[in-house]
Amino acid sequence: MENNYFGEYATLVDEAGKFHGEICHGIALGTRMTMSGLRRIGISDPKGADRKKLMVFVEIDRCATDAIMALTGCRPGKRTMKIRDYGKMAATFINLESGKSVRVVTRSNRKMPEGDPVGMPYHNEALEEEMFSISEVEVQLLPEDMPGKPLRKVVCDSCGETVLDGREIEHQGESLCKPCFEKNDYCRVVA
Ligand SMILES: [Zn+2]
Ligand SMILES: [Zn+2]
Repeated sequence: MENNYFGEYATLVDEAGKFHGEICHGIALGTRMTMSGLRRIGISDPKGADRKKLMVFVEIDRCATDAIMALTGCRPGKRTMKIRDYGKMAATFINLESGKSVRVVTRSNRKMPEGDPVGMPYHNEALEEEMFSISEVEVQLLPEDMPGKPLRKVVCDSCGETVLDGREIEHQGESLCKPCFEKNDYCRVVA
């Protein structure tokens, strides 16, 4: 879609839209979430001078997450983006240097205009407090959650597969990967 707006939001929504492939509702929203989150934790140059200071937890695997990725430079593969898929339009932005962290969650009762799926004027103009509930939070980050080489590497006593980064579970004297411990996995071997 054509972006007819000017200013910081317009520039950022364009950038996020290019990364995602289109400017959709989630991109319009995720751009505002990112702007709010970064401002609150005092990060102004996430992909430049501040790039080593930032980590984000996202709570959904939808379009808004792409906006956050595009605009923060955080990536799961860099270990600077953690996906906790709770199906919620929410994200937590962490300033690793100052420790300041905020969780930005989209309000369920925000008044989106009808008949405009992208909500471009809305997302450009709505007040932050109308769109989001923002709280200062504490996030417990373990050394094995940080970027860098894996600190731990363990072979699961049940399936024999390697588990990195302390994600194994110690149970009755065994080290087990999560699926073996929970006896539950997202996939089932059929051949
Ligand atoms: Zn989308
Ligand atoms: Zn296992």
